[in-house]
Amino acid sequence: MFRYKCTQCGKEYKRDEVKYLCPDCSKSYEPGMPLKGVLTAEFDYDLIKSKFNRENPDLNLFSAVEKKFYPGFFHGNTPFHKSERLCGFTGFENLYLKNDTLNPSGSYKDRASFLVVAEAIRIGEEKIVTASTGNAASSLAAVCASAGKKALIFAPESAPAAKLLQMQVYGAEVFKVKGTYDDAFKLSIEYTNDNGGLNRNTAYHPLTIEGKKTSALEMFVQNNFKPPDAVLIPVGDGVIISGVYKGFYDLKMCGLIEKIPELICVQSENSNAISNFIETGVYSDAANPATVADSISVKTPSNAYMARNAVIASGGFAVTVSDKEIMEAQKTLAATTGMYAEPSSAAVLAGLLKSKTKLDKKKQIVLLITGSGLKDTAATAKYLNG
Ligand SMILES: *Cc1c(COP(=O)(O)O)cnc(C)c1O
Ligand SMILES: [Zn+2]
Repeated sequence: MFRYKCTQCGKEYKRDEVKYLCPDCSKSYEPGMPLKGVLTAEFDYDLIKSKFNRENPDLNLFSAVEKKFYPGFFHGNTPFHKSERLCGFTGFENLYLKNDTLNPSGSYKDRASFLVVAEAIRIGEEKIVTASTGNAASSLAAVCASAGKKALIFAPESAPAAKLLQMQVYGAEVFKVKGTYDDAFKLSIEYTNDNGGLNRNTAYHPLTIEGKKTSALEMFVQNNFKPPDAVLIPVGDGVIISGVYKGFYDLKMCGLIEKIPELICVQSENSNAISNFIETGVYSDAANPATVADSISVKTPSNAYMARNAVIASGGFAVTVSDKEIMEAQKTLAATTGMYAEPSSAAVLAGLLKSKTKLDKKKQIVLLITGSGLKDTAATAKYLNG
């Protein structure tokens, strides 16, 4: 059905031959550095092409897990539409929104959690473990609930209250980490190394990237089988942007599109490791990644290498925004479109406003809105009411 390919050495593996990273390249990996040997799934693109039918497009053709293993968790297929009012406000003439706030757990992460839980069903694993700034965990907890699986979560105790409550109400077991997301990441990998269970950590499990590609496939269909010109994406660990790239890459490999959209990496000024890597070619951690946009607050982004390659290969660029710009954008987005996005997602509008000289006003540009503002009302309250 597909083979795993190492994004670093190019070595290929059969589907059940490897579980997480390329065994060769990950030998030199230690917690606290971007992951080495992240795997990507290479499909039989001629076969997909021969089966793909525009009259009745079946995006499951691109899935790395067979439909019979899917949990009953209905996500994705989120609205994709133009916003005339946001065009009027920004001066861009062809501005679109992909509204992933409407996933069941309120964020884009449902796409990845869904596929990893489907994989757990396929291989008969009962326990799924993840580290998370909040959304990956609340999402995993939700999908596990729908499948009768056990979710085990390592999350910083500073995660927004609504996200922690979500994990609880969905029935996950939560270890609150006195530390950062990066600390939680280390602990969760130690946990699965010692105790087993399937680790869903972003990029560490290759199907997180596959799960996060589906919005690209959807946009292609929703946009009348054409790719948009550019997509602005909020970037923390760099898996959403790599996933969106992978979705368009798959379409290109099938001959269904000619060009991958320019992918614009939007980060917080404080949590800018990937942007900095894109611009300088030299990797360094974000010294102090604290930002109001908790979902994109990462010191050591796990998928830094792949994310950088995605941006460069697509002809895109990186832009960073301040917390003040993010919160202004949250208010603007809500008040012009009716879409209340969490700070990380509002960052893409702030990024657009900062990229006016770099982006053609006539081109079709998409803002990927990854999470709901209701997940962190405290941040909004603080900004609106001081
Ligand atoms: C996780 C997340 C992001 C960032 O995705 P990465 O794959 O970590 O780059 C952006 N927005 C929201 C709402 C998220 O939950
Ligand atoms: Zn390798």
